[in-house]
Amino acid sequence: MAEPKSFRCVTCGWEFAAWSVDYFCPRCGFPAGNLEVLYDYAQVSRSFPKPSGFSLWRYGGLLPVGEEHAVRLRAGGTPLYSWPAAAEELGLRGVWIKDDSLQPTASCKDRGTAVAVAVARKLGRKALSCASTGNAASSLAGFCAAGGIPCYIFVPKNAPAPKIAQLLAFGAHVFRVDGTYDQAFALALAASQEFGWYNRSDGLNPMVVEGNKTVSFEIWEELGEVPEAVVVAVGDGAVVAGVCKGFLELKEAGLSPRVPRVFGVQAEGAAAVAHAFDRFRRGEPILPAEEPAETLADSIRVGKPADVVKAVKYVAKTGGGFVTVSDPELLSAAWELARKTGVFAEPSGAAPYAALLRLRKEGVFGEKDRVVLIVTGSGLKDPQGVTRALPEPPVIRPDLQSVREVVEKCS
Ligand SMILES: *Cc1c(COP(=O)(O)O)cnc(C)c1O
Ligand SMILES: [Zn+2]
Repeated sequence: MAEPKSFRCVTCGWEFAAWSVDYFCPRCGFPAGNLEVLYDYAQVSRSFPKPSGFSLWRYGGLLPVGEEHAVRLRAGGTPLYSWPAAAEELGLRGVWIKDDSLQPTASCKDRGTAVAVAVARKLGRKALSCASTGNAASSLAGFCAAGGIPCYIFVPKNAPAPKIAQLLAFGAHVFRVDGTYDQAFALALAASQEFGWYNRSDGLNPMVVEGNKTVSFEIWEELGEVPEAVVVAVGDGAVVAGVCKGFLELKEAGLSPRVPRVFGVQAEGAAAVAHAFDRFRRGEPILPAEEPAETLADSIRVGKPADVVKAVKYVAKTGGGFVTVSDPELLSAAWELARKTGVFAEPSGAAPYAALLRLRKEGVFGEKDRVVLIVTGSGLKDPQGVTRALPEPPVIRPDLQSVREVVEKCS
């Protein structure tokens, strides 16, 4: 592990001694004052990554806490699949799918959770909490179960049933808030301060981005270099901020000569970060970034993005941008991805594929580009949401003739 050099406010740049604050710069408040964790990058390069281990702790040289504090569930080490048919069809140099749904609780959130829970143990915190549209909650609940640590979870009342089922199975204390995710977020923060819980909420807790960035280390390591572009779905902005930070740190540490362009994807009906990015490019303030949020992709249904400043500034640093896609595009991307690759993603997880089609058509990507799509969550998280519009399979009599009748119709 690397002891962080300092924590720095993402808006005013004030540097704090590492660990002297948990969440944000008191001068700027939340979310303007979210923190970045800084390291002494010159120290990193020769020992990075560790020669063994399949989990994200392999990248301890750029993590704020040592593996000895981690719980036993494995985060990271997910597969990167080449998808040559898509590259050929779209006229790109290469397309890959990074299937980050293949983690203990079936979403990308397990990376940030693994690091945040290890930090809580290192700091001697007795309980954790978070607000979540669903995946961060099930992730935190799972890792707390593994560590025997109590956790308190705030989800909007309308979170998908399979995600709530995970929470109950893991034995979390669950509050279903009769309100939006954004209201659940504010309540979780207030309750954490009241009861002394360590809060893992996306955006609020800077350790989450430290875990999230390891997906980029894996992509770099597996390809042997960085690709030209990486695409990932965005709600609060903590995942895309992590993706960018990982690549920016590889460059900073002298491990990669360049940084890929990182593109964030949002739903058209929940695009607060994309709109903030447009304002930033026009030289206008990033905050406040508060908008209505309506989309079937529940994991990115966020109206008040908690990590918007970091997400916008980091994406701009990579030379990337934001794309918005419609709900029908999200659904058909999920079906097409499942049919063509065997990777069954929830709609948010399939968003990068929808964005790829859009960006290719608009000429943002061309024949020189190798593009990695990060699938952030499993279709099994909300199977009815994804398959509702697909035809029901036939019910047949238990005889071969019935099978034959159906097979003849298939061909
Ligand atoms: C959390 C999540 C995202 C987006 O992450 P943010 O940090 O909220 O931007 C995307 N897809 C899935 C499946 C997620 O669970
Ligand atoms: Zn500040």
